[in-house]
Amino acid sequence: MSRIANRNSIKRKGDDHPHSMRIVPKRLELASYLEDIWQRYFSDVQRPNEIYIGYCFPWKTRLGLIRLALDNSHSFIGINSLLQLANVPESVLVTTIAHELVHYAHGFGSPLPRAQQHPHANGIVEKELEARSLGPLLQECNEWLDHHWYPFYEEQKARGRVRLLSALYTARRQTVL
Ligand SMILES: [Zn+2]
Repeated sequence: MSRIANRNSIKRKGDDHPHSMRIVPKRLELASYLEDIWQRYFSDVQRPNEIYIGYCFPWKTRLGLIRLALDNSHSFIGINSLLQLANVPESVLVTTIAHELVHYAHGFGSPLPRAQQHPHANGIVEKELEARSLGPLLQECNEWLDHHWYPFYEEQKARGRVRLLSALYTARRQTVL
């Protein structure tokens, strides 16, 4: 899972657009992002099961997660639903998906053999992203997170959007189940 390091909490109001909860239409096509990222950066990795992807809760300290179904038939990547908003750079969404795919490649949340004992041991995820030419994107993502994530989150919370996105996720989940 991608966690946001507990950096200096709230430093300042970011460059948030005050009136928008603008969802980028393209970002609703998470499966397209997944396939595109896979083809571009992970095509050498075996893919023994199906990988599904969807938006989950608007977590404060987590960007994404990956889980393997009990019968190994599929893996599920869950993405923080705030990442569909236009205020968040696309690099954050792409890096989060790629981060979860690194876990998949390393045998976490996937049927592949485990590459190491702990999913984040020795900065292995970042090293793998760099080895797969995702270093510049990772850097852009981290810089934005460092400066803007917490102010952005608090802004969304104050405007009731965290609650709204949580409710939407819960409703969708109940419908599906
Ligand atoms: Zn992770």
